Amino acid sequence: MGFNFLIGQEAVKSRLKSITSNKGSCSLLFSGPEGIGKHLFARETAKAFLCKEPKADGACGSCPSCRYIDAGTHPDFIEVEPTDGRKNIRIADLRTIIGDAEVKPQISERKVIVINADKTSSDCQNLLLKSLEEPAAHLVYILLCSDTSRLLQTILSRVTELPFNSYTNDEMITILRNNGASDESEERLKFLTAFSSSIPGKALSLLKDPEFIEERDHIFDLVMRMPKLGYTDVLYDEYQYFDKNNDKIDELLLLLIWTLGDIAAAYAVPDPKDLKNSDKRDEITDFVSENRALTLINISNAENAVTEFIKASKVNVSFESNCCNMLLQIHKELKYEKNS
Ligand SMILES: [Zn+2]
Repeated sequence: MGFNFLIGQEAVKSRLKSITSNKGSCSLLFSGPEGIGKHLFARETAKAFLCKEPKADGACGSCPSCRYIDAGTHPDFIEVEPTDGRKNIRIADLRTIIGDAEVKPQISERKVIVINADKTSSDCQNLLLKSLEEPAAHLVYILLCSDTSRLLQTILSRVTELPFNSYTNDEMITILRNNGASDESEERLKFLTAFSSSIPGKALSLLKDPEFIEERDHIFDLVMRMPKLGYTDVLYDEYQYFDKNNDKIDELLLLLIWTLGDIAAAYAVPDPKDLKNSDKRDEITDFVSENRALTLINISNAENAVTEFIKASKVNVSFESNCCNMLLQIHKELKYEKNS
């Protein structure tokens, strides 16, 4: 193993290689959105710090220390999360962990404590601060945080921050394929990459979420079916779908905008590159050939209907009238051929 086996985050890896080769205590902060890979990197960093025969690239992966970490039984490696379904880490638990951490390590030369800082109250942070101010020489802290504005300034001034950046498309596809999506097409993984803003954890949970798959297909098909739908189908069935999924309206609107955008791209040029729904390219092409009389102006007007919905939903307009209005506008534009 070693840092080179992890995909992406080259800047973080390069700094970690140098940091973990130094002796002495240190306190790190991994910052970046949830699902970006902070836990995975923290585990590899701990391995590098505790490894009996570290290499230039980090942990050896085969010494007893590395094997204990893989098995989840290393006595000098502690991951701190809330227990018993609590929202935050209990201050009493953290006090015990910090107290134990001050005692010398058992099998490695150091101890590594990884703390999910998103789950720390200000009391917890104050307790942690005392240990960060005068850490025992063997102690390494790694704080994981998706929103550093939640952390006390005094904590931020005591840690070395390593910000995690987004992954490239190729890195994302490799990560997804290595994590259970080996059978998925590249086009589908590209869609998930875009929809998850290149956050692997989010893309992987969408991939396994049947509700999301249903939603995505429903909205895509809705646009494809729109020219054939009657006024009442739109006003009753389709409105009801949006009403039932009101809590996920932001996702539905994004899917709607993406599908309309893809149609616009397919009307503008014969074989457009970079479709959002590139795994549904054939259906988009069929739509264009079946609805020749539509123009880019119609599609642009349909896209505007979504923008108008978003604007109106910020003022006090009822969801029902706003949503029906949007759907009817889109319907009117995409049914152009039959009206004319
Ligand atoms: Zn090792």
